[in-house]
Amino acid sequence: MIEKILIANRGEIALRIHRAAQEMGIKTVAIHSTADADAMHVRLADMSVCIGPPPSAKSYLNIPAILTACQITGADAVHPGYGFLSENARFAEILEEHSLTFIGPKAEHIRLMGDKISAKDAVRKAGIPVVPGSAGDVATAEDAARLCADMGYPVIIKAASGGGGKGMRVVRSEAEITEALANTRREAKVNFGDDTVYIEKFLENPRHIEVQVIADAHGNVVHLGERDCSLQRRHQKVLEEAPSPVLTAIEREAIGKTVVDAVKSLGYLGVGTVEFLYENGEFYFIEMNTRLQVEHPVTEMITRLDLVREQIRIANGEELGYSQDDIRFIGHSIECRINAEDPVTFTPSPGKIKDFHQAGGLGVRFDSGVYTGYSIPPYYDSLIGKLIVHGMNREECIMRLQRSLHELVISGVKTTIPLFEDLIANEDFLSGNYDINWLEKYLSREQPGEDDLKK
Ligand code: ADP
Repeated sequence: MIEKILIANRGEIALRIHRAAQEMGIKTVAIHSTADADAMHVRLADMSVCIGPPPSAKSYLNIPAILTACQITGADAVHPGYGFLSENARFAEILEEHSLTFIGPKAEHIRLMGDKISAKDAVRKAGIPVVPGSAGDVATAEDAARLCADMGYPVIIKAASGGGGKGMRVVRSEAEITEALANTRREAKVNFGDDTVYIEKFLENPRHIEVQVIADAHGNVVHLGERDCSLQRRHQKVLEEAPSPVLTAIEREAIGKTVVDAVKSLGYLGVGTVEFLYENGEFYFIEMNTRLQVEHPVTEMITRLDLVREQIRIANGEELGYSQDDIRFIGHSIECRINAEDPVTFTPSPGKIKDFHQAGGLGVRFDSGVYTGYSIPPYYDSLIGKLIVHGMNREECIMRLQRSLHELVISGVKTTIPLFEDLIANEDFLSGNYDINWLEKYLSREQPGEDDLKK
């Protein structure tokens, strides 16, 4: 049984993991870079170890330093959170070689899903519908042109090892293909160390809908419904909701069953998310994430399950103890990703938080490590908190979100709170009528000019 978990992450997710562990009577170890010595998760954890200087490569990605921290603190398990080492199959193997438990899936599945080409191939064989496209790497521009002529434009060229919304390029005509292929390949090599690229049909107006699954070591697999993450900027999620405003109960059950059957046949273990594009009533697989997702709380709010607790229980070899029929979806939940960024230009805004007041009340959750006087370091992702609300239906949820955004105060740095205040008053958002391109269009709408501001 796991007795002490080392949390190989920082920020809100490190705190989130600490909270679940503490409620299970498990001790926690925080690791941190010199820039994070004053972080809340470091203060709250039972033990903490400084593992290096600010750059992630020397701290949060430094495997030897993390192993040493496990050794000196007596941690017997590691929770990787999301990002950093969470989808590094070799890290999972190394931990195992040192008799440490990796709280996550098996290394073989991390590796399989980490390569988008092998992932697509594996899930297609397991019965999941995929986006039409090349079978694997496209070797030459001629091959690409032939394939695209068959498939029809537009297409999207994607890096097999890509992630975080990077390494993708849309191509609308044959004239662009040679250059686009070469550029995507070069960027893929620089950013992901792998220049393998593949081509997919580009869907013009899909929604992004993903299904949460959970599997124990005894062959029990259930799905926890879907999340709609269609509000995106530069292919990155900004606001997520569960359930999706457009899916019917029948569609939910059908895609849930498809995913559960596939995950079972792959022998997958732990929590995972199968991501789809959804257009004209059809689902198309894009990738599977073999880790906890940033947006997992909206699923927790409507299912009342603690996903981190479930991950720890599964790592301990426990059975889920519930079946699909026991999962009930109650009400509606929305998450806003609060970033320390200018809400118009999205330029990062690190610095010291002057005043902080957390929104509260029934159905409101704020996952964040910030506090009055905390200095947001400039070295990492600008996500500083997630405001998550729950209501008995979507209308109640939106009213509560409006009220909570108004209550939440984070001053001293710029944040994306004003963006959400505007966004959730918009007619299209209120009616659930948006796709993955909607937010970009909304953001590029005419902004008030200088003359307007002077008035
Ligand atoms: P990442 O691993 O970088 O998150 P994904 O493959 O999950 O990459 O794609 C991220 C986003 O890119 C999707 O949510 C969607 O907005 C867009 N996208 C990816 N593939 C396609 C496609 N075939 N057609 C249209 N949009 C796509």
